[in-house]
Amino acid sequence: MVDLIQLAKETTKYNFHSHTQFCDGRACMEEFVESAIAHGFKHYGFSPHSPIAIESSCNMSWDDVDKYLDEFARLKMKYHGKINLYASMEIDYIDGYGPAHASYQSLPLDYRIGSVHFIPSFLDKSEYVDIDGRYENFKLKMSKYFNDDIEMVVRSYFTQSLKLVECGGFEVIAHCDKIGLNASCYRPGIEDEDWYQVLLNRHFEAIMDMKYIVEINTKAWEQHHRLFPHSKFFAMLKKHNVPVLINSDTHYPELVNAGRDEAMALFLNS
Ligand SMILES: [Zn+2]
Ligand SMILES: [Zn+2]
Repeated sequence: MVDLIQLAKETTKYNFHSHTQFCDGRACMEEFVESAIAHGFKHYGFSPHSPIAIESSCNMSWDDVDKYLDEFARLKMKYHGKINLYASMEIDYIDGYGPAHASYQSLPLDYRIGSVHFIPSFLDKSEYVDIDGRYENFKLKMSKYFNDDIEMVVRSYFTQSLKLVECGGFEVIAHCDKIGLNASCYRPGIEDEDWYQVLLNRHFEAIMDMKYIVEINTKAWEQHHRLFPHSKFFAMLKKHNVPVLINSDTHYPELVNAGRDEAMALFLNS
């Protein structure tokens, strides 16, 4: 397994979370490599959304996994000496099936990212609903699947996240309080409510117990000036010596470096 924290100590120009044509990224892998080189990156990791058992337009299919790994091998050879490339996946936890499953563990990946994007519908617990993404869609789903109960949605998100943490099989936890953005749009100030903070602190404690790397995800910086986890938790992460990476989670080649300098400065000054 690649030691990501060691690699991150060599340079600030790394990114270990990114998407391409193999999932919902908006360009092919080689365009991301070219952009990363143009931005002076030394290390760059690909992390397509994993194949999952439910219908999702954002996730890659099992049929494409070999194609992804073949294209990765081609690029790694082609760009050897110019940039160090790594193969990974952002693996969803859904209904007991997550990164620890043999189907993911058997893949020849340099590291694995664990992630929660789906929670069960309140109407039918076997139906999982994507609560990530644009707020307009989230709001529609709140009434369609969740009885407009934002507190229960947040609780369900952190329940799934805790299960992901306990299930293991990965090194980096992705955007660990992502629900905070849509939940705050739905009910401003929700992240400052006592019960929310109890849930989040419990989540951080579990992450620290399992010694995962916490990603500071900059994907929403350009649009919302928001990082995941929220920058108000950076001091706590530093106090507990939690290993941290700054990743752009980019879906566009021009955004490989978006928010990195701002996140770095916020973290250093926390
Ligand atoms: Zn994600
Ligand atoms: Zn991602």
